[in-house]
Amino acid sequence: MSPSVDARLEQAEAHCRAQGAQLTALRREVLHLILAADAPLTAYQLLDQLRASRKSAVPPTIYRALDFLLQHRLVHRLERLNAFIPCVEADHSHHDVQFLICGKCGTVAEIEDSATAQALSDVARKHGFTPHHAMVELDGICESCAAG
Ligand SMILES: [Zn+2]
Ligand SMILES: [Zn+2]
Repeated sequence: MSPSVDARLEQAEAHCRAQGAQLTALRREVLHLILAADAPLTAYQLLDQLRASRKSAVPPTIYRALDFLLQHRLVHRLERLNAFIPCVEADHSHHDVQFLICGKCGTVAEIEDSATAQALSDVARKHGFTPHHAMVELDGICESCAAG
């Protein structure tokens, strides 16, 4: 069973503190929305939900909070969907990550396969390119949709 939203918020707070950063009330609230959602949320969906408790919230409010969460790798942005999902790694230390995005039910699985990351890095270096970060998004059909 995966840890509860509350447990993950506690972890996130400790993670920020260890990095000398602060998970402010607003950042915590945005992270809470992303953790509680069962599908990736766009910045505008987050803004709509945030306005339920903070009427004065405007787009920069949400973008600043998201920047912080991305920077500390508490969430990931899926470029393809332009939406945000929580990072599943407890220590958020990874750089290279792959996402499996189901086109049918919309679920997104985060995986971290070091062989894939290494292969991409090797290919890049062969072209004289120094990679900093590799995020791969795969479109397809998840196991349960394929079975059903
Ligand atoms: Zn992650
Ligand atoms: Zn599916």
